[in-house]
Amino acid sequence: SIPLGYFGGIGATSRLGVLFKGGNYLDAITKVNTVVFDKTGTLTKGTFEVQSCRTQHGVSEEKLIQIIASAERNSTHPIAKAITGYTEQRRISFVPTAEVTEIAGHGLETKIDGQRILVGNARLLSKYNVEYPQELSKIADTVVVCAIDSAYAGYLLLSDTLKEDARKAIEDLKALNINNIQILSGDKQAIVTNFAEKLGVTQAYGDLLPDGKVEHIEELRQNDGNRIAFVGDGINDAPVLAFSHVGIAMGGLGSDAAIETADVVIQTDQPSKVATAIRAGKQTRRIVW
Ligand code: ADP
Ligand code: MG
Repeated sequence: SIPLGYFGGIGATSRLGVLFKGGNYLDAITKVNTVVFDKTGTLTKGTFEVQSCRTQHGVSEEKLIQIIASAERNSTHPIAKAITGYTEQRRISFVPTAEVTEIAGHGLETKIDGQRILVGNARLLSKYNVEYPQELSKIADTVVVCAIDSAYAGYLLLSDTLKEDARKAIEDLKALNINNIQILSGDKQAIVTNFAEKLGVTQAYGDLLPDGKVEHIEELRQNDGNRIAFVGDGINDAPVLAFSHVGIAMGGLGSDAAIETADVVIQTDQPSKVATAIRAGKQTRRIVW
């Protein structure tokens, strides 16, 4: 049974903006020695901005934006929201799409005017054997590439920014003696490494598909000493949240699936609340025992 003191603990932490789904997690979180963060929307704002556009010969800029945005109108990904917003701002119209498939960690496939359209990352184009300029893989920003009927047509360059609270999130964990801090992302390795360096995190893993994130946690679990908290905003993160010792969802922007699967929900968009939650757990333990 759960000691009575835990209920007081749960109430107190909800005033701190942290919601524990049960007293057992207040206990479990005190044992955490490994904190794994998702990048997009967790440590970064996840609200991308379109920076520039590069078209292939024969395709106009407006046409490229129109095709990419019309495909993205079918997606709820933060990248998609940024692109459709940008397109509305520029007063470029949307065109109808048919037979839309969203491929997690890749992007979208659809049809526009009978032509097959691919919109997503370079990995998506590789998957469909579409050739693209090799420089694309070296750009340390988010690139949304487009192919029309298997021909590379150009890309949009987007950027995301770190949350103001992200550095504090890492520092507070280190102050709690939690030094095994990792960042996982489906984004390109160069982008993930760049953000990680700014935060003083040395373990940064990019280019991961949703399954790859689960496998990474699985590997960490092989070491019995590891007690793992995973922190995510939930787009594609529900399986990883469920698989960690303590799954923590960012409730500010997070998806419903993540909030449902998580053991602990942070009710703001501040990743530093992870350390707050751990401190609260430790404090409650002192009160109970
Ligand atoms: P993260 O781990 O950063 O949250 P996701 O698994 O959500 O990443 O996506 C990984 C990558 O897949 C993105 O960085 C992007 O390149 C690509 N991607 C996913 N969905 C879309 C989309 N709707 N449009 C364009 N690119 C996408
Ligand atoms: Mg994500």
